Amino acid sequence: MDYAMRKLEQLNFDNTFARLPATFHSRLKPTPLAKPYLVSFNANAARLIELACAEASRQEFVECFAGNSLLPGSEPLSMLYAGHQFGQYVPQLGDGRAILLGTIKNSAGEHWDVQLKGAGRTPYSRNGDGRAVLRSSIREYLCSEAMHGLGIPTTRALCIVGSDDAVYRESIETAAVVTRIAPSHVRFGSFEVFYHRRQDEHIATLADYVIARHFPHLLAAPGKYARFLHEVLVRTAHLIAQWQAVGFAHGVMNTDNMSILGLTFDYGPFGFMEAYDPGYVCNHSDHEGRYAYDQQPQIGLWNLTALAQALTPLMPIAEAGKILDEYGEIYSERYVQLMSQKLGLTYAGLEDFALIEPLLEMMRVSELDYTSLFRKLGQFKVAAGEKNSLLRDLFIDRAAFDAWAAAYRARLQAETGTDAERRARMDRVNPKYILRNYLAQTAISKAEKERDFSEVERLLNLLSRPYDEQPEMESYAAPAPDWARNIEVSCSS
Ligand code: AMP
Ligand code: MG
Repeated sequence: MDYAMRKLEQLNFDNTFARLPATFHSRLKPTPLAKPYLVSFNANAARLIELACAEASRQEFVECFAGNSLLPGSEPLSMLYAGHQFGQYVPQLGDGRAILLGTIKNSAGEHWDVQLKGAGRTPYSRNGDGRAVLRSSIREYLCSEAMHGLGIPTTRALCIVGSDDAVYRESIETAAVVTRIAPSHVRFGSFEVFYHRRQDEHIATLADYVIARHFPHLLAAPGKYARFLHEVLVRTAHLIAQWQAVGFAHGVMNTDNMSILGLTFDYGPFGFMEAYDPGYVCNHSDHEGRYAYDQQPQIGLWNLTALAQALTPLMPIAEAGKILDEYGEIYSERYVQLMSQKLGLTYAGLEDFALIEPLLEMMRVSELDYTSLFRKLGQFKVAAGEKNSLLRDLFIDRAAFDAWAAAYRARLQAETGTDAERRARMDRVNPKYILRNYLAQTAISKAEKERDFSEVERLLNLLSRPYDEQPEMESYAAPAPDWARNIEVSCSS
């Protein structure tokens, strides 16, 4: 299909965000990186903007995505936003190190924002250096593609370009730029900034822009702003239900990291839970556990409340409140549905909580790997008298397992189909491979120490098909080995 693809110089820019009034952004150029080199290129993401894969081998490609030269048609800018960080309102954040090159329109009519993250200082950098390190760039790149492979809405990543330029974090690291692509980079905080500045007209302008671009069916609807809030709420609730079902902790659910489109956004100290632990905190700097795994659903509502408040100049407060009231039910319904699918059930009711909760509790007590256990559960046999010893032996409390297995068996008997059919169904929703921290760390170490990017490549391929058995990659399904149990991930990136 490469023949339909474009050269770098032919990308079809249609910069919608740049056309908004000057208040919404600051125009500027990326700061060049010394001697940039390509770390990784993602052909799947290139297809979205119809960029020919062969282009990645040109030196011009590296220069463009290092921020050293500008693509024709791009109108680089940093976006303004504010946000609540760990519960506190911060009046001006904005892209402190990200630069939006512009928006590319493909032949299907889709628009994709192309953004360089780590492209140098901007008017919003505050004390930051405007840079991103190779370590965090690899983590964002791999995780966004892993989430996409899992079927979870997310920003995507086109490539990583590295440089030997030094960046000072807890230690000296090297700089990199990860190119992020997404239908939009507008966040909850993009609205909050104007609410707190009492600039209602800008709230309306931004809402109209987002609705026209991403919710066009609402354009002519009565009460379009309330319906817009409702749709964002539904998308956010569904997204977080997917995070919970797959055992993903975002780590920094500040409102400036909440996508208006319900995408997983801004990967920092995220983590996939290994041993099941509802209080799992992936961000070493989050001492209070504000963003612990089991807090995410309610933080979603907290964040939506901040967004709803920012939209109150556009709708009656009571209406915003009514919409927020729906969150709990919308979230729970989707969560139970996803968890029921993980159990191989073809239909779900809230009563299936009664199967899910005791299983999770047994997993917690036995410290079982969340991902592996659900994958193994696909081997459950329904036949009466079947002990399911392989599974049973994993649990410390065998009597509890037997009681749970009896209830599960009874529930499965209400379904039709064979064990094999159920297993095939379960394998399509219970991933075999996730981006475990130690896997990412191995790829990062090789990249940092030896400039060997082969492990990044291997993980990118592996995680694009997380539900498939990939026998030659079997060892990548294992939980962290002892040396890697205590890898700490901080906010520094
Ligand atoms: P984050 O925690 O990555 O979502 O970032 C929060 C805010 O800090 C955003 O406004 C970022 O643009 C900004 N920021 C993070 N790291 C840097 C950096 N190294 N230089 C400048 N701004 C940064
Ligand atoms: Mg952010």
